[in-house]
Order: sequence, then C-alpha cells, then structure tokens
Amino acid sequence: MKEITGYTKVMGILADPIEHVKTPQRMNEHLATLGYDGVLVPFHVRPQNLAAAVQGLRGIENLAGVIVTMPHKSAVLALCDEVTPVAQKIGAANVIRREASGRLVAHMLDGEGFVGGLIEAGLDLKGRHAYLAGAGGAANAIGFSLVQAGVASLTVYNRTASRAEDLKARILSLHPHADVRLGTRDPAGFDVVVNATPLGMKPGDALPVDVARLTPEQWVCEVIMQPAETPLLAEARARGCTVHPGAPMLACQIALMARFLGIDAAR
Ligand code: NAP
Repeated sequence: MKEITGYTKVMGILADPIEHVKTPQRMNEHLATLGYDGVLVPFHVRPQNLAAAVQGLRGIENLAGVIVTMPHKSAVLALCDEVTPVAQKIGAANVIRREASGRLVAHMLDGEGFVGGLIEAGLDLKGRHAYLAGAGGAANAIGFSLVQAGVASLTVYNRTASRAEDLKARILSLHPHADVRLGTRDPAGFDVVVNATPLGMKPGDALPVDVARLTPEQWVCEVIMQPAETPLLAEARARGCTVHPGAPMLACQIALMARFLGIDAAR
C-alpha cells in the first residue's frame, strides 16, 4: 500500500458488527495493484447512527465513497440522493459513490459480482436454466443479475414462499419477458444451482436443497465464503457436480466497486 498522505483518497465500509469484514483487505490489495493513492478503512456504524453518518459523508471532500454491508444495505437507500434502477428494484445497495458536489449515488453490485465470478470460472449463463435458493438480500441481487445475464429460466425457492413470489414479481416488473418460476427444495434438472441462504455457515445447519437430486452435469454455487467448502459443496462434489464457492463473488466485486467509485488507474 502507498504511504497515506494528504493526497490520499479515502473509502470506507459501513457495517455493524465490523470485525468480520474482508473488503478492506481485498480493496487495499486491489488499490495497491492499480498503484492508486487510496485507502479503504472500516467504519463501525450502528443502525441508530446511520442517517447521521451518511449525512456526514457528503461533507468529506476526499471521500470516493463507501461500501455498505449488513445491516445497512436497505436503510441506505432512503438516505442517498440517487438510487440506480436495479438497486431500487432490489431494495438494497452495497456501494455509495460520493460525487464532487457531495451527492451520494447508491448501487448494488452483489449480483454482478456473483455472475462475473461464474463467467470467470468458465460458465456461459446464456440459455441456461438456473435455480436459486433464498429470497433475501443476496438472492435478490443474484436473481436480477442471472436474468440480466440471459438465463433461459430462473426458478426461485425460499422457505418463506411469499418472499420468493415477491422477488419474482419485482424481476418481472424490470424484465417483463423473463421466465421466472417458483420452485421447491428439488434442484433436479437445472444447469446451475445457487445457494443464496446462510445455510451452511454454521455446523449443524440444514442443507439448503435436496442434495440427493443433484447430478454430475450441474454447477452448484455458493454465496457463503466461510467455510470455503460448505456441506452443500461437499455433497455436490461427491456427486460429480462442478462446484463454485462464495469467494469469487467478493473478488469480482472489488474491481466493480472500484470502477463504480471512479477508481480505475494510478492517481
Ligand atoms: P438475508 O437477507 O437475511 O436472507 C437470508 C435468506 O436465507 C432468506 O431467503 C431466508 O429465508 C433464508 N434462510 C435463512 N435461514 C434459513 C433457514 N434456517 N432455513 C431456510 N432458509 C433460511 O441474508 P443475505 O444478506 O441474503 O445473506 C445470505 C448469505 O449470503 C450470507 O451467508 C451472506 O454472508 C452471503 N453473502 C455473500 C456475499 C459474497 O460476496 N460472497 C455477498 C453478500 C452476502 P426466509 O425468507 O424464509 O427468512
């Protein structure tokens, strides 16, 4: 990392709790690779102080923007001056750009990061049939991006069915010709199976899908980064599937976030 001086551009990550975040390490590595004079630091902000903290960002002239994570992804929308159409439909943002005037623009890159990671791993999503477990924040972002990437169909399964129905309706409102369906725990027959629930983070968690129905030609993908090999991925690997862990989703987002914040090259 470059020496921090009065010229250094600053970025932050808003979270509560903050200790587990991996974005500072990854973004600072990325900035060093670019030779960019900038630094990303953790900003521990509790929900009751979020509005004041976001208002304060407007006044920091050398701030490029902030990354936003749990539990602030939805709450920041109402606090920004502009929300991109996809973040509006998803109802959450994970990056805020501060423009020179102090205007704040919120955007969501979780889904693009996930899709970018899959493409880098060699999967062409166009014309594929995709299955998505979950309808929370990560699943929403991924659902929109899978459709945007040209999947032939998207089937959503969620424990709370009404949230899957709601996600389907919002995707169709932005992409009226998309083929979006509601599914069950059965992932059989899909080309790409995605777990976008936290099931698999903790020992003893239930499996997010019926793994007995997985077959070798399928790609089975995770959003969970820790552990790197979840029980779902282990079961899928044992059945001959191609497995795709959660880490590339963040790795791919780092470059996308930097670009959104206006950081492309050495400064
Ligand atoms: P969230 O908004 O709280 O959504 C959680 C989803 O999982 C909901 O659909 C929920 O279903 C379902 N779920 C939770 N517990 C369940 C259980 N016991 N049984 C069945 N379904 C359950 O969370 P999120 O923000 O989407 O995060 C989900 C995961 O994505 C987390 O592990 C997070 O760390 C990961 N993530 C990874 C990245 C990355 O870059 N790799 C980025 C963002 C998030 P209900 O609707 O029924 O409650």
